[in-house]
Amino acid sequence: RPSVPSRIPGGEPTIFSKIIARSVPATILYEDEKCLVFRDVAPQAPVHFLVIPKRPIPRISRVGPQDTELLGHLLVVAARTAQAEGLADGYRLVINDGKHGAQSVYHLHVHVLGGRQLGWPPG
Ligand code: 5GP
Repeated sequence: RPSVPSRIPGGEPTIFSKIIARSVPATILYEDEKCLVFRDVAPQAPVHFLVIPKRPIPRISRVGPQDTELLGHLLVVAARTAQAEGLADGYRLVINDGKHGAQSVYHLHVHVLGGRQLGWPPG
């Protein structure tokens, strides 16, 4: 049986699986064996990019102890890419989860937003 590596078990492949597979274009900022970083198509700040695992974990509420190293890696890559993007005055990381978190793509992603003064609390 052919393997479809970017498919969520029991779910449909998301647009992010297609970005990983390069069948949907994106502006890619960084890639390694575990993750991909690309600009958000609808930026909410002058700099807005997403850090995603290549393994399609659907949402942060579904992670387990086996994901500890991968999740740490995503945060380190987020911080390094923010530095490379010149966000010396700070930035924000966001992970939306599920309906109340307003998650729209069910492939775990860390938003990195910066380049302007952000407000708090978020909406
Ligand atoms: P969520 O609402 O799930 O936390 O965030 C999903 C994000 O993915 C949104 O900010 C949305 O703009 C972004 N997005 C959705 N589809 C695409 C796409 O095809 N390409 C890129 N680069 N970003 C996308």
